[in-house]
Amino acid sequence: MVTISEVKGNSRENRTAAHTHIKGLGLRNDGYAETNGAGFVGQMAAREACGVVVDLVKTKKMSGRAVLLAGGPGTGKTALALAVSQELGTKVPFCPIVGSEVYSTEVKKTEALMENFRRAIGLRVRETKEVYEGEVTELTPEEAENPLGGYGKTISHLLIGLKSYKGTKKLRLDPSIYEAIQKERVTVGDVIYIEANTGACKRVGRSDAYATEFDLEAEEYVPIPKGEVHKKKEIVQDVTLHDLDIANARPQGGQDIMSMMGQLMKPKKTEITDKLRDEINKVVSRYIDQGVAELVPGVLFIDEVHMLDIECFTYLNRALESSISPVVILASNRGKCTIRGTEDIVAAHGIPPDLLARILIIPTNTYNREEVKTIIRTRARTEGLLITEPALDKIADHGVQVSLRYALQLLTPANIMARVNHKKEIDVDDVAECEDLFIDARRSASIVNAGDSFIS
Ligand code: ATP
Repeated sequence: MVTISEVKGNSRENRTAAHTHIKGLGLRNDGYAETNGAGFVGQMAAREACGVVVDLVKTKKMSGRAVLLAGGPGTGKTALALAVSQELGTKVPFCPIVGSEVYSTEVKKTEALMENFRRAIGLRVRETKEVYEGEVTELTPEEAENPLGGYGKTISHLLIGLKSYKGTKKLRLDPSIYEAIQKERVTVGDVIYIEANTGACKRVGRSDAYATEFDLEAEEYVPIPKGEVHKKKEIVQDVTLHDLDIANARPQGGQDIMSMMGQLMKPKKTEITDKLRDEINKVVSRYIDQGVAELVPGVLFIDEVHMLDIECFTYLNRALESSISPVVILASNRGKCTIRGTEDIVAAHGIPPDLLARILIIPTNTYNREEVKTIIRTRARTEGLLITEPALDKIADHGVQVSLRYALQLLTPANIMARVNHKKEIDVDDVAECEDLFIDARRSASIVNAGDSFIS
């Protein structure tokens, strides 16, 4: 069964691409961590502490508080934050940012923070919608020959047969709806739903396609009348408050939630104002009161939190108080440093003491060789790469001596090397070739420094 659902073209998802092997915190029912669970290896105390945070969130005891993951680079801070969002439920938003991202010449920094807060707050809308249920069937040779609509032969030989709509009548769908269906990789025999929108037309996902019927006599597409819809189905849609903001920052924004969502695909961007956000909050509250929607607070992860300045921290403090705050997880690999935006106030992790006082700090530790090796093995498996044991050992050495990040980054190019050399498995010499091609930061710096002294 295939449902036509909304697909977000979100480049931000690339940020979590390195963590696809992480499926959760990997904790047992009693809260203790498995040595190796849900893709997570080691870092057990931190995972258990994160499990407690998940419990606090679920029992609504986290409000006004935040978490700080403190530890060196590549110790799994981002992975832990992602796992927390996964443990909170499916489709819980995870919004990872780096502290420095809030600085831009176009947007005020507190505005940028607010935007990311809203990216981390989900809204689950349950609506009973009228849908067309149809089974994808093949055109008969006769139908394929029929030039009506002009695409029968050119686009594909598939038709959507809406089984219970006027018997087993087959419908030709207009080309744009067709594309949307093809994106879902629908094939003959699949059952699909096409959402019916208000009025005579219906829409697939967020595309502007309308389901129409080709009227043989009139020789034109006519919208399928609403009365012909034969089935009601509960449709669950997950959006974030930010999605609703952008959808409505456009002039043609409708008032109801579905039309807000319907516009998410349109790329034109205009300004999101406080007034607009207030309006959206009102509509959202109304939908929540009516039981149509529920809020799904997600996780806002701010890496390199010392890059935020005192104004941002003030904002953060206030935002944490809000009743709809997401779980805020900060990360830092700094010890004591000056709080940005102040002359000389030095504080732990560059975080002001009033915020520090509301924070649960979870340390993350560096991995031992065995753990590094297991992480690399897990990652190789997830990426579908075959690697020999000696090659794994060699990459693990880099993980210990340089960094886990560097080691993990060697996997893909090493695989390319192996393939160039007509091998199925990555071997030691492939890794060796890569480490000559892609040097780590320390080696790179020392080469440049040597060059400097040569010039002087
Ligand atoms: P940085 O300080 O550079 O932001 P980080 O502490 O956030 O680093 P991650 O990005 O989470 O580190 O980890 C680097 C890579 O190693 C990621 O691909 C992550 O999924 C993986 N990784 C880290 N720790 C573990 C672990 N314990 N088990 C499995 N994979 C891990």
